[in-house]
Order: sequence, then C-alpha cells, then structure tokens
Amino acid sequence: MMKATGYGQTTHKGTPWLAHRLAWVLDGAAIPDGTVLDHECHTRLREACAGGPACPHRRCVNPAHMRLITRSVNALAGNSPHSDNARKAHCLRGHPLEGENLRIVQKKGRAPSRECVTCRRQRNRASYERNDERTKQRERYAARKQAQEDASPGE
Ligand SMILES: [Zn+2]
Ligand SMILES: [Zn+2]
Ligand SMILES: [Zn+2]
Repeated sequence: MMKATGYGQTTHKGTPWLAHRLAWVLDGAAIPDGTVLDHECHTRLREACAGGPACPHRRCVNPAHMRLITRSVNALAGNSPHSDNARKAHCLRGHPLEGENLRIVQKKGRAPSRECVTCRRQRNRASYERNDERTKQRERYAARKQAQEDASPGE
C-alpha cells in the first residue's frame, strides 16, 4: 500500500508501519528517539531526484540503503555536529552505545573504539550460521562418499 507521501505503508503484528522503517527494524536494527531513517539512495541522487511523493526512493525497503540521522539534521539536510553526536550515542544501526550494550575494544597500537554488543552478537551469529552450513555440507559429502563406497562391489 502506498501513502500519499510516497512512502510504503504496511502492517506488522497489527501495528501500522512505514515499510522502510519496518524493514530496518526487522533487520535487527533500532530507531532511537530523535532520529529518523534517511534513504541514502535518495540522498546520493538528491540532484537527480526531485523528491516529494513521486520520489521512488521513498518506497525503497533495502536496509543497506538507509542510515539514521537526527531529526534536526534531516531538517537541515546537511552535516552538522549533531550527526556526529548521534553517531556517538548510537551505533550505525541505532542501538544505544551505553550500559550493557557498549563494549570498549582496545586493539594493539590503536585508539580504543566503542563497539555495539547487539551488532557484534548479530555478526557472530551470522558467521556461526555460515560455519554451521559448511560443516553440514562436509558431513553430507562424507555420508555420500561412504554410501558410494558401501555400494561399490568387490570388497
Ligand atoms: Zn534504495
Ligand atoms: Zn528520491
Ligand atoms: Zn548496534
């Protein structure tokens, strides 16, 4: 469904959502208070795209094309110190960089960096699932080989 503003509108668990915001949240990210989701695919083409309800980017639901910016920055559509502060208070995907979600990473010879625990966990899970899939493939291959050997005559 399309709203008059040009944004996609959808419903998730009985709650109305703007489609791109829902895609972002279902991707495991968050939208903290005071921030808005900006369509980077539009921002990049700002000169070519007139924007407004006819803007095709408003319908884009690819989380990789979005980024969080603070409301005031969105209004100014520029780079102000606000966006830097917002980046410090939240990770790129909007999780709060504080308390239990904040992890300080100290690498040798580098300045300590702040890392989002939620994003780290999601990255680890993704790589675990990839490894798991590789293990299963190896097992399937070994089982197939074994079956072939069992079926071959003469032993
Ligand atoms: Zn896009
Ligand atoms: Zn656009
Ligand atoms: Zn995060």
